[in-house]
Amino acid sequence: MVVEAAMNWKTGGCHCGAVRFAVLSPDEVEAKECNCSICRKSGYLHLIVEKERFRLLEGAERITTYSFNTGTAKHHFCSVCGVKSFYVPRSKPDGYSVNLRCLDDGQVRVAGIALFDGQHWEDAFAAAQGKV
Ligand SMILES: [Zn+2]
Repeated sequence: MVVEAAMNWKTGGCHCGAVRFAVLSPDEVEAKECNCSICRKSGYLHLIVEKERFRLLEGAERITTYSFNTGTAKHHFCSVCGVKSFYVPRSKPDGYSVNLRCLDDGQVRVAGIALFDGQHWEDAFAAAQGKV
């Protein structure tokens, strides 16, 4: 039996505070860590959510977007401090990935980290969908 944990809105943002967001999340989550070319360099820790579970509160005008490779992922980062606190991931282009490292302190406990082999994205994505 799967018990759905109660969720409530948590807040977070970039380093300088220009970009602020809220995400609907349980108090304890399993994070995803990806070893693709960009996640590895930025140390990003993913919480991937439906778009209804994400709200941009402040800073839309400060956000700059970077894309590469397939162009599906939209890497939104703060043009002031350079921190990517959330973005649109290739694996869920109709949702968001929030950087758990950018949540305000003490709101979410990371119970575990699941590795995603983004260096072999197509195979890893198929495996995650249960297709291989
Ligand atoms: Zn910033």
